[in-house]
Amino acid sequence: MRIDILTLFPGMFTGPLTESILARAQERCADGMPLLDIHFHDLRKFGLGKYHQVDDSPYGGGAGMVMRADVIVPAMEAVVSEGEKEKGNRGNKGRKGNRRKPWRIYFSPRGKKLKQAKVERLAKRDWLILLCGHYEGIDQRIIDGGWIDEEMSIGDYVLTGGELPAMVLVDAIARQIPGVLGKEESAAEESFSASLGRKKEYPHYTRPEEFKGLTVPDVLLSGNHSKIQRWRIDSLK
Ligand code: SAH
Repeated sequence: MRIDILTLFPGMFTGPLTESILARAQERCADGMPLLDIHFHDLRKFGLGKYHQVDDSPYGGGAGMVMRADVIVPAMEAVVSEGEKEKGNRGNKGRKGNRRKPWRIYFSPRGKKLKQAKVERLAKRDWLILLCGHYEGIDQRIIDGGWIDEEMSIGDYVLTGGELPAMVLVDAIARQIPGVLGKEESAAEESFSASLGRKKEYPHYTRPEEFKGLTVPDVLLSGNHSKIQRWRIDSLK
């Protein structure tokens, strides 16, 4: 999967995307392409004038700055055409052989809240473009003019920018891509997965059998698999 991230702060992604499972996802390949092929685009480069201005004060007044359509849209269009030209082993054909089309997401508290079923659907796509807002957000005409396919929120609270939401989304998607998780980290039976009826997972225990007077539920030590299975299903929330 190709993921393009448009941001004013590409440096924020160092760390979360360069450690552990997400680093591995970018190193591992399938068909000669990385499982996760992430490209960063610094929105400042598309800024206007000597100071590379990306934002301006809002019409109607009020506090804060709004990211300009005449900066964001050319940036979005440049990223789309760069992705379309990309010649990997698959050329610019998607997994199903059709021409790759990006799905363009803008992070916003006004968007639809991200859920696991949505993560699973997005993980099946070939190409995502993630636009991280900052300040008060972006000029509404970027959305109304059709340069965004979806507005996405990660929860009912306000962050300073779309960078953390982008990291949350990339992380959640990565663990759904076949080959990213090792077998010891399976994504199959987890909270919100279809196999658990989208419920919250049962609790886990490991050695020692007794810890500061706290014990492990007897059933888990019984070796009776059907009973264990029953207990786990009953413990879903
Ligand atoms: N004025 C906006 C908040 C802007 S916060 C409002 O009141 O709705 C600045 C940027 O942070 C947004 O453009 C968005 O990209 C990002 N952001 C903040 N909170 C978010 C959330 N809960 N989910 C997704 N993106 C968020």
